[in-house]
This record gives sequence, C-alpha cells and structure tokens, in this order.
Amino acid sequence: MGYFRDSRRIVVKVGTSTLTHSTGHLNLRRIEKLVKVLSDMKNSGIQVVLVSSGAVSAGVAKLGFGTIPDAPEIKQAMAAVGQSELMKIYDKLFSVYGHTVAQILMTKDVLTNPDRKSAAVNTFNRLLEMNCLPIVNENDSVSTDELTKFGGNDILSAHVSTLCEADVLLNLSDVNGLYDSDPRTNPDAKLIDRVETLDESVYAIAGGAGTSRGTGGMIAKLNAAKIVTSVGIPMFILNGEDPEILYTLLDGGHVGTYFCADKRAKASE
Ligand code: GLU
Repeated sequence: MGYFRDSRRIVVKVGTSTLTHSTGHLNLRRIEKLVKVLSDMKNSGIQVVLVSSGAVSAGVAKLGFGTIPDAPEIKQAMAAVGQSELMKIYDKLFSVYGHTVAQILMTKDVLTNPDRKSAAVNTFNRLLEMNCLPIVNENDSVSTDELTKFGGNDILSAHVSTLCEADVLLNLSDVNGLYDSDPRTNPDAKLIDRVETLDESVYAIAGGAGTSRGTGGMIAKLNAAKIVTSVGIPMFILNGEDPEILYTLLDGGHVGTYFCADKRAKASE
C-alpha cells in the first residue's frame, strides 16, 4: 500500500525495553541495527528525528543498581548518567555511517511558552536542514511536575512529531501492535492492521502496562496516536525487536498497527 513512500520527515520513537537488556544495560546489538537502518533511511533522503528512551535504565545499570529506585531525585540523577551514556553510543555508531547527531532534551513547558516553542521548532528545522539527526528525550533530570513532565516518551514523541510537522510517527515498542484482546493472556488475539478512527471502542480493547523498564503501555500509545492523528499525522506501532522491520515499510509493505490521520485535519490543511 506504500503508507510510507511519500514520507520525507519521520519521527521514530524507541522505548527502553527495545534499547536495553533485562539487566538494564544497553542492548548494543539492537542499537547497532537501529542506527544502521536509520542511517540508511537518511541516505535515501528521509529526514529522521529519533525520540529515544533508555536513559534511566542505562544510568541505573551503569551505577550498579539492580532496579530503578523509587526516589525521584535518585532517578533523576540516574537519568543524567544514562543520558550521556546513550548519546555517547549513538554518536559513535551514527558517525560510522557518516551521520551527525544532536541532543535535544525537552520539558513540557516548551509547548505552552510561545518563545520556547518557537525556539524548539527552529532548532529542529535548522538541524534537519543541516542534515543532522536530532535525538530527543525528556529532560528527566529537571522535570518534576505536571507543568514540566510529558510523562513518558510516547507522549513526548507525539508532541515532537507535531512540532516538526512530521509525515509519520513510528513507535517502536516491544509489542507487534494493537491486538483485539490481550495477546499475553489470549493466544487467539488478532493484530489489528489499521485503525481508521481512534475512539472509545479502541481504548476499550487496549489495556495493561508495558515492561518494568519502560513507562509506556498501550493506553499511552493510543494517547500519542490521538495527539498526532488529530493534526493529520499517521502513526504506526511496530515491534522494535528487529529494527530492520522498518525496511518493510520503506519498501511499501505493511507491519504493525497503522493509525490513520484524521481526515478532517487533513482537509483543513
Ligand atoms: N525518559 C525516560 C528515559 O530515558 C523514558 C521514558 C519512557 O520510557 O517513556 O529513561
């Protein structure tokens, strides 16, 4: 169907459970594959923005903590350690393929403060024009309350997609997509290929949390889909276990669950 063929600017969101092992340490083999695929997309002329989680988990692992601590200030310190670890790896791997990365750490007040919002939009646009690959995360170390916290990278990636006026948001997760019932408890659960209208009936079939290492469950992904589809940007939920799945989309195939952009938003463009 070629959902993806006309996309010139994409946002790819990748979750902690995809980027890390169960130990919390970075899953280098998977990150290497992801970097290669995204580099190839860039080589084909697509502008890519990566929204990457994994900072807290990488920090926890690097500092030798077994599990993510509850105390927010410790978690924030872990994020600071893990974020630089993450960027070090991305910088190193993307440079192998000749691509330049740029770190953008976001707080939610960027959306409500017009000056900060336009600074963010300008920075994204300038970076993309200069052929850089922005890598975005929530600024976990300084976000503490409702005003500053996005509350997870599913939502952050949706807002980044609208700020960048992306053509599509690809949400790489540890699930294949949205099922008509919980695949962990129902072996007959069927993957839903396409969601035309994201209404209450869709929310009713989603449920449950993600893994203990990430924050996003299916509801958070649906909320993200709601944000982007309502402004005319479609979204996929895909399994990031094998990042080469993205080639299927590039080649015009279909994988995961596709959330159609709201036609009314498109019509008013
Ligand atoms: N910003 C968090 C991190 O880098 C992840 C949040 C999320 O997984 O949604 O660890």
